[in-house]
Amino acid sequence: MYDIIIIGAGPAGLTAAIYAQRAGKRCLIIEKGAFGGQISLSPKLENYPGFTAISGTEFSDRLVEQALGLGAEVELDEVTAISQKDGVKTVTTLMGEFKAKAIIIAAGAKHRRLGLEREEELTGMGVSYCAVCDGAFFKGLTVAVVGGGSSALQDAIMLSDGCEKVYLIYRSTLRGEKQLVDTLRKRENVEFIAGGVVTELKGEFELEAITVKTAEGEREIPLQGLFAAVGYEPDNAPFASLIKLDGGGYAEAGENCLTQTEGVYVAGDCRSKAIRQVTTAVADGAVAALAACGYIDSL
Ligand code: NAP
Repeated sequence: MYDIIIIGAGPAGLTAAIYAQRAGKRCLIIEKGAFGGQISLSPKLENYPGFTAISGTEFSDRLVEQALGLGAEVELDEVTAISQKDGVKTVTTLMGEFKAKAIIIAAGAKHRRLGLEREEELTGMGVSYCAVCDGAFFKGLTVAVVGGGSSALQDAIMLSDGCEKVYLIYRSTLRGEKQLVDTLRKRENVEFIAGGVVTELKGEFELEAITVKTAEGEREIPLQGLFAAVGYEPDNAPFASLIKLDGGGYAEAGENCLTQTEGVYVAGDCRSKAIRQVTTAVADGAVAALAACGYIDSL
């Protein structure tokens, strides 16, 4: 029996582990993918207090090292359900079952799809959701980035270093950080397509072109790569038996990260909240961990 099972090893989950281990609790972190979460794929983190700039990978590595150094245990596995009986929480995974007095769900969110026909078929054949992972394959080629948030802007900046041409296609406004917009505007190989919506992916076996609809009409753009950076959506279905989800599928919780079930907390991007940043994720992790420790001590 663990004191706390933490689901997700992103900044929220790892911070929760750091706080809980330091409070003398025994934690298990269960992660289904890469340790470090989304931020580990960010080329540069420039708005985390205390670091002028640090790569996402280095930041994640440091967090993982800190949590494991304090004795947190880890399992690489996928959680399929959570339940509780007489206050004991059970976390069911693809490979087994784990028990704890408290659970912190810090499962983050997954890349939102564009919702286009053939999108799934062409993923990995020109369509990508990760410029850091796949950008190097498109050196010297033409690509498009879809989205107007900070992720899309960062992706476009990074891709413009090696690609022949980068189109940035966004449907409404550039809502990402101004500093990133300013950097991108100075790049000569970047073309902004405002009010643009990708309506079709073309190519027999690999992506060869896209159709973009704007107020001026439809335009076909020949290219080799399309990077979708249109935000994230939560994947909270495995936890729905013990927590309440809002209309967008995010977990509802109070200021102390407590869900509707005693001893079950949520932290980070999977939670219903206004600002999803690394800073707010780590804040949630600390709050959830301390609340969980208090709950365990009161048992
Ligand atoms: P985001 O800020 O939610 O932006 C999503 C973008 O995708 C918006 O431009 C949105 O357009 C567009 N979009 C959504 N669905 C679409 C669809 N089906 N088709 C076309 N476009 C669509 O997401 P994000 O850029 O991934 O950022 C997530 C969070 O991380 C934000 O809080 C951001 O500030 C933070 N972040 C920070 C940094 C940094 O360095 N500071 C870097 C990356 C991310 P609409 O505006 O029209 O809805």
